[in-house]
Amino acid sequence: MRPMDMTAVELGTAIREREITAPEALQAVFAEIDRKEERLHCYITLDREGAVRRAEAVQKKIDAGELTGPLAGVPLAVKDNLCTAGMLTTCASRILGNFVPSYTAEAVRRLEEGGMVLIGKTNMDEFAMGSTTETSAYGPTGNPWNAAHVPGGSSGGSAAAVAAGECFLALGSDTGGSVRQPASFCGVVGMKPTYGSISRYGLIAYGSSLDQIGPLCRDVRDCAAVLEQIVCHDTKDATSVKRNDTDFTAALAEGIAGMRIGIPRDYMTEGLCEEVREPVLAAAEVLREKGASVEPFDLGLVEYAVPAYYTIAAAEASSNLERFDGVKYGYRAGDCTGLHEMYRKTRSEGFGEEVKRRIMLGSFVLSSGYYDAYYLKALRVRTLIREAFDEAFASYDIILAPAAPTTAPMRGKSLQDPIRMYLGDIYTISANLAGLPGISVPCGRDGKGLPVGMQLIGDRFSEKKLLRAAYAYESARGAFGICEEVR
Ligand code: GLN
Repeated sequence: MRPMDMTAVELGTAIREREITAPEALQAVFAEIDRKEERLHCYITLDREGAVRRAEAVQKKIDAGELTGPLAGVPLAVKDNLCTAGMLTTCASRILGNFVPSYTAEAVRRLEEGGMVLIGKTNMDEFAMGSTTETSAYGPTGNPWNAAHVPGGSSGGSAAAVAAGECFLALGSDTGGSVRQPASFCGVVGMKPTYGSISRYGLIAYGSSLDQIGPLCRDVRDCAAVLEQIVCHDTKDATSVKRNDTDFTAALAEGIAGMRIGIPRDYMTEGLCEEVREPVLAAAEVLREKGASVEPFDLGLVEYAVPAYYTIAAAEASSNLERFDGVKYGYRAGDCTGLHEMYRKTRSEGFGEEVKRRIMLGSFVLSSGYYDAYYLKALRVRTLIREAFDEAFASYDIILAPAAPTTAPMRGKSLQDPIRMYLGDIYTISANLAGLPGISVPCGRDGKGLPVGMQLIGDRFSEKKLLRAAYAYESARGAFGICEEVR
């Protein structure tokens, strides 16, 4: 088997069994990058020389028996909002165009400790605000299945890189769907775990109460393997949770007999494209054949999720992004007569349109006189949404839904109408509002050959159930494959 046809876990096994070395695996990835990157632009930063050094060092440790984990020697790509010591971390923004962190995000550090070889930083929507990877200050990313279409966002570079074979596994972040939706658009597996399960230390904040790191992978087994390494308690993140149920790989084989799956009626109505509805319902049928019960139910408050999310996410973003002022980090505008002008010019020149829109919206909903009317009301809606899910999970183990209402749109068609773009997040944002885990698994293609994703959402800390169901479906479906040639 060619290295590029292997999953991350298969490659890790081949490296352990001396069939291939870590430097050779790296060269195989570089060959794919050389073939495709010019058209796709998955990466903002590629550190080839550093990666070669790291792969050689890892191989020495493997040879010495010091590294024995399942992913040792496997190349890794990381979204550019995760800090990496000594490696440019831009958040796809001009304002961090020269920012080289002095420390590494905990999730990345843990993967490197397990022997993964960091090769570079992937493209994204600026500060993770967007759904298409088109708000990046460094230019858009193409969808590997058809480069005239977007890869989704905001973790579009990570999803596209995995789908194109430009890496074996990548990390993204999911504030309102940014791992699950690009996974769906690119035909890879993407998971957002329960809020607090993966340390946010070193993840540049967007909406802190919603943000969660998640992996983008070739299959469900890879997803379980990477979660096993990065789900852990971390005292450096005050919202980090202690868990002792992280043997995710072992859970895969348990099957889904007797599992109760609910499909929200309100998710399957107008607004959902037929080319998405059909494969998602067909996937539900497969789960039924595997022994689960599947039925529709009424999940309340669906129409309030988008406004509540955008109010809360913008409010938190406006506060989080205050720190980018030309003093502490990154870009500073020149030719300023005083401190205030320097702030104003730096932020005006450093931030893009969409980020400015969120900062203004967020500052507005937090301002006195409007706080109660908008922000506080959104928080109340958030609580009600959480309760609606709690009620649903009293009857169901898993909620099955699409990941997005459509397949990947054409490039250049989404940003003119931000509200429409925001509405496209309808199926993913509730999981963030309620802190729930969700996984997107490829389940078909539309008429143009673009992938469709099925999403499974579970109760807090029910990752094992999600992985079991996703694995049962994936085993029945068969391989989805990486994209050989970019169209
Ligand atoms: N599209 C959503 C937004 O723009 C979600 C982004 C994300 O999850 N980072 O806020």
